[in-house]
Amino acid sequence: MYIFNTKETLQDHLRQCLQKKESIGFVPTMGALHIGHISLVAKSFEENTYTVVSVFVNPTQFNNKEDLDNYPRTLESDIALLKVHFGDKIIVFAPSPQNLYDGEVVSLNFNFGKIENQMEGKFRPGHFDGVGTVITHLFNAVQPTKAYFGEKDYQQLQVVRKLVELQEFLVEIVGCDIYRESSGLAYSSRNQRLSVNVKEKASIIYKTLKECKEMFGTKSATDITSYVKGIFEKSEMFDLEYFEIADTIDLETVKKILPKKKYRAFIAVFGEEVRLIDNIALN
Ligand code: AMP
Repeated sequence: MYIFNTKETLQDHLRQCLQKKESIGFVPTMGALHIGHISLVAKSFEENTYTVVSVFVNPTQFNNKEDLDNYPRTLESDIALLKVHFGDKIIVFAPSPQNLYDGEVVSLNFNFGKIENQMEGKFRPGHFDGVGTVITHLFNAVQPTKAYFGEKDYQQLQVVRKLVELQEFLVEIVGCDIYRESSGLAYSSRNQRLSVNVKEKASIIYKTLKECKEMFGTKSATDITSYVKGIFEKSEMFDLEYFEIADTIDLETVKKILPKKKYRAFIAVFGEEVRLIDNIALN
C-alpha cells in the first residue's frame, strides 16, 4: 500500500509507475471512510490501472468553523479499511493543507452559473468556491484519467462537471449511485455523530423522498413541497433546512413540471445539529 503526504512524492511515484495506455482513477474524499466511499473506490479499481484515494478535510469549503473542527478525522482506520477491501495496490494521498495549497490556504473564485446559487450554495455561502478550489489542486496533483463522485452530493457532482469544462481538465467525471444503509439512510461520515435513536429515526429522510417520487406525476411541485414541510413540522427530532424539486442539469428550482425534463428532489435536514443531505431521481 502506498501512502503519500505530499503532492511531490505522489507525483514522483505516479511518474515512475505509469506506462503508456495505463489509467489513473481518482476518488477524492474527506476521510472517515464508510462503505459508500468504498463503493466509489471499487468502481475506480475495476476501471483503472491505478486508483488514488485522497483523504483531505478541505478547510475552504466549510463556511462554519465549528463544523470544520467537528468533522471526524480517522486516517489510520481509513487506511485500514482501504487495505481490507483493496489490499496493497491502493494509493492514498493525505496531504497537509499547506502542501496541497502551496502554502496559501485560500479559496479561488469561480463562476459556476446558476448551479452555485441553489440549495447548498444558498445555505453554505462560499462552499462551492471551496470545492472548486480543492478539486483544482487535487486534479493538478493527481492528473487522473477518471474521477469518481457520489450522487449523494449531486449538486457537487454538477459543480465538478462545470469546473472541468471551465478549467479544461482532461478527466472523465463518473457519477456513482447513492449507497444506503438497510434503513434507507444514505451513508455519510456525519452519521457517526448521531445517537443510535436519532440515526434510526433518520430513515424518515429517504422514506419522505420515496413518497415524493410516488407523488411526482400526479401532484404539483408546490403540493409535494408543502407535504414535505408538513412532515418535518410535525417531527420533534429533525429540522428541515430546505426541500427543493429541481432540474437535474442546472438545478434550478422547478416552477412548472415539463414532460421532457428530468427532475430530482433534494433535501437538507438537521438532527442533533448534524446536517444531513439526500436526494432522489423523480423521473
Ligand atoms: P466526502 O468524504 O463526504 O467528501 O465524500 C467523498 C465522495 O464520496 C463524494 O463524491 C461523495 O458524494 C461520495 N459519497 C459519500 N457518501 C456516499 C454514499 N452514501 N453513496 C455514494 N457516494 C457517497
